[in-house]
Amino acid sequence: MARRSRQDHGHRDAGSAGGRGGAGHLIELRRVEKAYSSVAGTFRALKGVDLQVDRGEFVAIIGKSGSGKTTLVNMITGIDRPTSGEVHVAGTPVHALTEGQLAEWRGRAVGIVFQFFQLLPTLSLVENIMLPMDFAGMYAPGERRGRAMALLAQVGMAQHAHKRPSGVSGGEQQRVAIARALANDPPLIVADEPTGNLDSQTAEAVYRLFEGLVRHGKTIVMVTHDPDLARRATRAVVVVDGEIVNQFVAEALRTLNVDQLAWAERHLTARSYPPGAFIIRQGEEASRFFIVTRGAAEMVVQRPGGQQIVVRRLGAGQYFGATGLMHGGRTVSSVRAAPDVGADLLVLDRETFNRLIAESEVTMKAFDAAGHERMGQIEAAVHAPEGSSC
Ligand code: ADP
Ligand code: MG
Repeated sequence: MARRSRQDHGHRDAGSAGGRGGAGHLIELRRVEKAYSSVAGTFRALKGVDLQVDRGEFVAIIGKSGSGKTTLVNMITGIDRPTSGEVHVAGTPVHALTEGQLAEWRGRAVGIVFQFFQLLPTLSLVENIMLPMDFAGMYAPGERRGRAMALLAQVGMAQHAHKRPSGVSGGEQQRVAIARALANDPPLIVADEPTGNLDSQTAEAVYRLFEGLVRHGKTIVMVTHDPDLARRATRAVVVVDGEIVNQFVAEALRTLNVDQLAWAERHLTARSYPPGAFIIRQGEEASRFFIVTRGAAEMVVQRPGGQQIVVRRLGAGQYFGATGLMHGGRTVSSVRAAPDVGADLLVLDRETFNRLIAESEVTMKAFDAAGHERMGQIEAAVHAPEGSSC
């Protein structure tokens, strides 16, 4: 899975701390609530969601059926409105637009791809792509057909341009729907389970089209049921019961399924350490598992001569403490908050950690592999010639 660098995370944090206006982020949701009312009472489909997406990201939205994924992306496209909170897309306050402004904005600023394609059955494929240009008044009328043909060629459908949607397969209709989403050259494409109605081979081809768009600078937000596809995105956003699982927890525990992640998150407690403060000491009884959410933690080992060496620096989305909990019950190195930035952590107690790895063999194996690698680094540092001291 292509992942953002630590530096990028740091940059992003600095950006959101910068405050109002959504500057820097293509998409910014702030405390978005969506409540549906019925005779049975009020149902909170989104419970105060914060989300930031930067230009050029390919974000996969995953979660169980009914968790709120469609509601979430409908906030971004303005198809639906928040009950409270703010939605900013490319500097536009989408939550504050009138219906008329919304339709006009959507036509230019966002391309939308649905699970069931939703091409107009009475129009030819090329006309389906010209329609958004007509609606938005984009491009000179004489240019629109040529542009639509070029977009059809881009998705490999030029030879079918004059057929009706019913004359081509589902996968082909979805290719045309992607071309339609690109009609007005929006910076953002939002897709709600675009491969949900396709066989796996066709889904793969459609997914590759999206990957190609990202390479050409588009930003993509895609709801998907397919964990293999989600892993190929630059980031997965996990939705559970109308809430987004902490990004760094999802990253550190990416081998867990959605239920296990939600359960883990409920048991995590937050702790902040000032610059240089020790979090665990080498050789003490291992009792907790840690995930870094801001700043950095440093694994420090003592050499036989007493000299302290930093073996590894762990940034947001990385974890420590697993090896001690899984083997022998003693911590294998000291860990301190980085002297320059300090560290914010989420902490799991031993009991919860043990239950998690008992339920997820892949997670246990992932921790084991990471632990082996780190033990190797520790050994090398302890026995290395004098040098990289701190
Ligand atoms: P997902 O896309 O993850 O399957 P949705 O966002 O469609 O989930 O729905 C989230 C929850 O909100 C579901 O429990 C659904 O029943 C409820 N919901 C969605 N739309 C409406 C609506 N218009 N009226 C009432 N409840 C709704
Ligand atoms: Mg849905």
